[in-house]
Amino acid sequence: MRVILMGPPGSGKGTQAASIANHLGVESVSSGDLFRDHQKRDTELGRLARSFMERGVYVPDDVTIKMVMDWIDDPAHANGFVLDGFPRTHAQAVALDEEIESLGGIDRVLFFRVAQNELVRRLTGRMICRQCQTPYHAQSSPPNTEGVCDRCGGELYERNDDKAEVVTKRIQIYSDETEPVVEYYRSGGKLREIDGEASIDAVSEASLAAVSG
Ligand SMILES: [Zn+2]
Repeated sequence: MRVILMGPPGSGKGTQAASIANHLGVESVSSGDLFRDHQKRDTELGRLARSFMERGVYVPDDVTIKMVMDWIDDPAHANGFVLDGFPRTHAQAVALDEEIESLGGIDRVLFFRVAQNELVRRLTGRMICRQCQTPYHAQSSPPNTEGVCDRCGGELYERNDDKAEVVTKRIQIYSDETEPVVEYYRSGGKLREIDGEASIDAVSEASLAAVSG
């Protein structure tokens, strides 16, 4: 079974990838895993990808697709796989379909839907100590005294990446890019939407049902 997981940052999709793969008896991989692996092995594709990242620009689709295809073509993944967060653009989705058409194509695409205000709530509120770097979270692990580190008394601050307007922008970019991908798989009858705002157990149950039925 060949499965794709889609969902914005904070949707909990990454948490489900391993259990879905385990349930299906296949491996899961994300494009981030592939980038790191190619960097580590210092492959030609890894060096090419780094040359774009160092310039602060997106790695072009064809480089990412080559890495994904390289992984899919590994005999260990002949029985199926879970792709976590790839394809991310319509062009990548079309290219992937062309590449694996002879294998029978993608079987199922799970989209983890979470409302934007809930995503912002989940992704903001992180604070870090300036002195000892201990992380805190306004809701899940607040310090005893607001703005002060429990361990060393240092000042807590919010990283730029964790600020609400930056998080909102990141979610917006994701939605703009992936909405056409969601529609592409929906029209192909392969899309299953998962309510990402349900409890972790309920999300897990719905995910396994979506790849079983
Ligand atoms: Zn501290």
